[in-house]
Amino acid sequence: MKKALVCGAGGFIGSHMVKRLKREGLWVRGIDLKYPRYTETEADDFLIGDLRDPHVCRSAIDQRFDEIYQFAADMGGAGFVFVGIHDADIMHNSATINLNVLDACRKRNNKRIFYSSSACMYPEFNQLDPDNPNCAEDSAYPAQPDSEYGWEKLFSERLYLAFARNHGIEARVARYHNIFGPEGSWFDGREKAPAALCRKVASAKDGGEIEIWGDGKQTRSFMYVDECLEATCRLTRSDWIGPVNIGSDEMVTINQLAEMIIGISGKKIAIKHIDGPLGVRGRNSDNRLIEHKLGWRPSKPLIEGLRTTYEWVSQQVAANKKDD
Ligand code: NAD
Repeated sequence: MKKALVCGAGGFIGSHMVKRLKREGLWVRGIDLKYPRYTETEADDFLIGDLRDPHVCRSAIDQRFDEIYQFAADMGGAGFVFVGIHDADIMHNSATINLNVLDACRKRNNKRIFYSSSACMYPEFNQLDPDNPNCAEDSAYPAQPDSEYGWEKLFSERLYLAFARNHGIEARVARYHNIFGPEGSWFDGREKAPAALCRKVASAKDGGEIEIWGDGKQTRSFMYVDECLEATCRLTRSDWIGPVNIGSDEMVTINQLAEMIIGISGKKIAIKHIDGPLGVRGRNSDNRLIEHKLGWRPSKPLIEGLRTTYEWVSQQVAANKKDD
């Protein structure tokens, strides 16, 4: 039986990955600071532990795994990453996790490891025009990410590539672009635009209004979590190291995203623009390289993923109201 380890298995993407690997018939160990918040984990073995501690890392990686997925990071949406007060923690915590995980892999002769970098590592100067952002993989240098989160991702992806070069680690590196879906953060300060907007719309009265940070003309693309897992498994099981974008290329403005969610809700809701943390002006996944190397590209329309996510977030909002 094939064995997998999922680091960050209590988080959004990690908990979905555990479910997928179990469906495929693998034996799965998860590790995280916490259990998944919204569902029981399906992992065969789940360790509560802090990957900043090298001893914990070594006890999680105490045997040969066929596949290791490294999702653990100190991260969140714009309200977490762009406000400045978490910068030292983001850099220190996530870099320490990656240093420890790779060291433990080397010591236990574990080779195949997937690392989730982020589109936030791309230079800000290529993402000033909302209609024409450049996020081709080879545009990464000269580097100028607009957040410490992005700088840590850039450092860590280089760390994985260096361990591949010098220590025989079979690293697989992807740059995720805004992954969304049910069972992710929606109200704890780490939520991203799709979940946050679903919450605002679900909480608003018919005829009411919601607030959006900035003028809403900034562009992004959003990939549904199932497609992210598909691309991640394809890359991990391929013979190619990356780095490669994993994201949707259906680019929308934040205003359009909000209108889509309002449309799904069936309510009449106005949009009010307020000041808030923003990030780059435009971003879209460039999917030419993944298509060329893996013969795959995402195909699920944004609206479909939003319907499922809106339904889940509105259930959370309703359940929370009952608890109040
Ligand atoms: P998440 O915050 O839901 O999951 C990360 C998990 O890591 C959390 O459960 C957290 O408890 C765990 N963790 C943090 N510090 C830890 C520690 N010291 N020891 C053990 N566990 C620890 O985030 P996610 O959305 O599932 O993202 C997973 C990965 O993908 C992250 O590395 C993130 O940077 C990357 N990524 C995500 C997106 C996205 O849109 N969701 C976009 C780009 C990159």
